[in-house]
Amino acid sequence: MDLIVVGTVALDDIRTPFGDEKNLPGGSATHFSIAASHLVQVGIVGVIGEDLPEAHLNLLSERNIDLAGIEKQQGKSFHWKGFYEYDMNSAHTLDTQLGVLATFDPKLPAAYRSVPYVFLANSDPDIQMRVLDQLDRPKFTFLDSMNFWISSKKGSLEKVIRRVNGVVFNEEEARQFCNTPNLITAGNRLLDLGPSFVIIKKGEHGSLLFSRDFSFAAVAYPTEKIIDPTGAGDSFAGGFMSYIARHDRLDEDVFREAVNFGSVMASFMVEDFSYRKLVSITTMDLLERYNRLYQYIHFEPLDAL
Ligand code: AMP
Repeated sequence: MDLIVVGTVALDDIRTPFGDEKNLPGGSATHFSIAASHLVQVGIVGVIGEDLPEAHLNLLSERNIDLAGIEKQQGKSFHWKGFYEYDMNSAHTLDTQLGVLATFDPKLPAAYRSVPYVFLANSDPDIQMRVLDQLDRPKFTFLDSMNFWISSKKGSLEKVIRRVNGVVFNEEEARQFCNTPNLITAGNRLLDLGPSFVIIKKGEHGSLLFSRDFSFAAVAYPTEKIIDPTGAGDSFAGGFMSYIARHDRLDEDVFREAVNFGSVMASFMVEDFSYRKLVSITTMDLLERYNRLYQYIHFEPLDAL
């Protein structure tokens, strides 16, 4: 196994203009791993309570996702309630119940410690740090977070950011964390903290990739069907990291392809509640959409006008 994710395995109650559903399979690690499972085997590090239905875990195992790093504890699972307005670009949190996450002390299974690719999905930054401490020289560590942790644990979050190779934020989070309205300034400030790569996601407007050597703007796959945007960011990251792990290279070409593959993955994710759509598609569907995205954005440089 070449890729692990630490994050939440959760229950979600979600309202969008297209429906209202409760106790859905959710959590950053869940959505990330379902996306990544299209290309590689992925292991989850996380915690669940007694209320998480067995069926949620069975679905992960059926997709060859390794659950050795999931601990079951007495108490309730992480539970998130949120809704989206008509434009569906940003989630509004109604309630966050940490449950067993509040006291979770991750212990990595021995086989996970030498894994080369590690995604620290949105979770408590202190938990993210304790996972980093247990790793044996990983090749590429990538971190996500959100407003909830930026507001409540900014100091801890900054310490983890200083130790990872890459960071992914959405635009509001980047502005909030870096204290600037300008996303280019935010990207540069995040690079100044130490990571070699920063991705800032702009919802339906795509994403920006910054590094010290090159920058890259990706568009979102143009889709008319958006039913529930929850997990778009996690599935983007799952597509991105699994592409890099599968190719096992960290050069500019792979990063560009991985960002576009992440956009394609997210475009499927939003077509239904939870990961329902993502588990119904094949690698051929992903490939076709990737190539359609290429046609959509491709253009040639000009010699003259
Ligand atoms: P996103 O990809 O950003 O839409 O992430 C959606 C998932 O994040 C949901 O399934 C939630 O269970 C999970 N989530 C919401 N709030 C938090 C939080 N504060 N920490 C970790 N995970 C969260």
